[in-house]
Amino acid sequence: MLGNTSSINGMVYIRGQREDYDHLGELGNTGWSYEDVLPYFKRSEHKAEGANDYHGYGGPLWVEDVADEQKLDLADIYIQAAIQSELPYNPDFNGATQEGVGYYQTNIRRASARAQHARS
Ligand SMILES: Cc1cc2nc3c(=O)[nH]c(=O)nc-3n(C[C@H](O)[C@H](O)[C@H](O)COP(=O)(O)OP(=O)(O)OC[C@H]3O[C@@H](n4cnc5c(N)ncnc54)[C@H](O)[C@@H]3O)c2cc1C
Repeated sequence: MLGNTSSINGMVYIRGQREDYDHLGELGNTGWSYEDVLPYFKRSEHKAEGANDYHGYGGPLWVEDVADEQKLDLADIYIQAAIQSELPYNPDFNGATQEGVGYYQTNIRRASARAQHARS
């Protein structure tokens, strides 16, 4: 097949850290601070659950949250354990902060419908 890791990856969608983009900007790279790149992330994105301050709707890159029926008991237990250890719950690693524990978003279109179909 064409492509190497692009052909086998898990399709997890997590952007770079705000701090890293801001550092690029501080080094003199005009247009690379987080506030500069965020509009491009939003423009590129089709967030299945809708747009907000950090997400776009109508772009070419499909992004969706993990649906409840896809969540695994073991993953829920892990997240609860992390919260009990005083890590904050984070419902959106591409939102206001990347700190915390939670489910990531994916570039898999209608993953929940596919999972239901595979089970039926
Ligand atoms: C198991 C796994 C899971 C991953 N999961 C995720 C994920 O969920 N989300 C995410 O964002 N990222 C993930 N990644 C990382 C992501 O897949 C890669 O960072 C990304 O695909 C790299 O793209 P690329 O175009 O730079 O390289 P590649 O897709 O690897 O393409 C490089 C191409 O160059 C070719 N090539 C290499 N050397 C030569 C040469 N000398 N001459 C000619 N051609 C050459 C290779 O054959 C290949 O086709 C994952 C990676 C792995 C391995």
